[in-house]
Amino acid sequence: MFNDRYRKSREQFKRGLRTLPGGVSSPGRAFSDVVTPPIFVSSARGSRFTDEDGNSYVDFVLGLGPVILGHGHPEVVRAISDQASKGTVYGMPTTIEYDLADEIIAASEVIDLVRFMCSGTEAVMTAFRLARAATGRERIVKFRGGYHGHSDVAIAQATKPHMLSIDGENIRSGLATSEKQDVIISEYNDSDAIKTLVDAHGDEIAAIIVEPVATNMGLVPGTGEFLRTLRSLTSDRGIVLIFDEVVSGFRFRYGPVADQIGILPDLITFGKIVGGGLPIGALGGKAEIMELLVRRGSVFQGGTFAGSPLAMAAGLAQLRVLRDTDAYAHLDHLGKILCHSLINEFRERNLPFGAQRYGSLVSPILQVAKESLRDYSDVGGQDAKLFGRVHKELMDRGFAIPPSIEEPLFLSVVHEEHQVKGLASAYADAAFSYSR
Ligand code: PLP
Repeated sequence: MFNDRYRKSREQFKRGLRTLPGGVSSPGRAFSDVVTPPIFVSSARGSRFTDEDGNSYVDFVLGLGPVILGHGHPEVVRAISDQASKGTVYGMPTTIEYDLADEIIAASEVIDLVRFMCSGTEAVMTAFRLARAATGRERIVKFRGGYHGHSDVAIAQATKPHMLSIDGENIRSGLATSEKQDVIISEYNDSDAIKTLVDAHGDEIAAIIVEPVATNMGLVPGTGEFLRTLRSLTSDRGIVLIFDEVVSGFRFRYGPVADQIGILPDLITFGKIVGGGLPIGALGGKAEIMELLVRRGSVFQGGTFAGSPLAMAAGLAQLRVLRDTDAYAHLDHLGKILCHSLINEFRERNLPFGAQRYGSLVSPILQVAKESLRDYSDVGGQDAKLFGRVHKELMDRGFAIPPSIEEPLFLSVVHEEHQVKGLASAYADAAFSYSR
């Protein structure tokens, strides 16, 4: 029997297919890896949202990262509305840019200067441009399974399913041949592979980009040994090391992961959380590289909405709450509960599955007897079909999780223990009923 629970969402998506290519503004929202149709949110508050059909969900998507305080946090809403009443864009610099920059600079030893943009994509794109200018080299190294936004370099040699077109063709159209040739892929957490690569091509490589905690292939922490190897190889060979902290920055602590683990890159990209739920990207680094940007140097970056007053105000309000409360201890506590509960609930049902986490991001592991995920082939080894069914069952039971096995579960400060335990038990129930 056809489930009518998503009737209005289905209708809206049909409407969207007439006006937006694929019905969406970003491909992951088409829910192509799962059974449920794309869900249309009508309103969100705290840890929950309601869809167009009136179904209510506990939200573990949380805008894929930015909504760390929950939806509509009063401090953030007040900051946005105060700023909106004073104007939304001026075409002139603002003091709130400096206030937000002060917070980011104070949170990391690596950062002398910050440039604000409208998206993580732009922050990464500018980091590549700076690295090429600083080194006079062209090539960029990325790791399989990483996602660094949608600039040409970032999507060249794409490895992710949602970056394939509907007929499975890799997204090569529209990219210059040089960009395809300039990008080299290595394996995450594989120190030997990157050593060999840098031995062979070190003098051609402008930058190595890596998420110190990978958040786009489930949740996979970089090992200390791997990240230290990257630092020493890049220092030895004059390569710019970029930590992409668009998701991880201010997610696990007040600042980037870099300072927490004591491995300091040359440039760090931020986004998501530092914009308080509004569009943002930020790039930080040592003055000697950052000053290559115009008006000091000759690397161009700019934008009508770069440093948007609304995003600055929202980001500043969000960071101040994170800075002045015990938010991170609470987030960590919730992450621990979710990860332990998943493991226990799987075990109680004799399911050979697991979970892993870093702070408040958690990945269930849907692969028989796999204790941990270390690289992209581990992530790809999971049961994607089972995930699609689990996803539907969870949505039907009012737990919204990202529509891809490659996204972790996101937690916010306002989630409650019973919601987190409820998700773990529903997850294991769903996995149990479909894996027999
Ligand atoms: N870098 C990482 C690690 C990301 O996860 C993302 C987006 O999810 C980006 C960069 C791109 O950021 P944006 O979507 O704001 O362009």
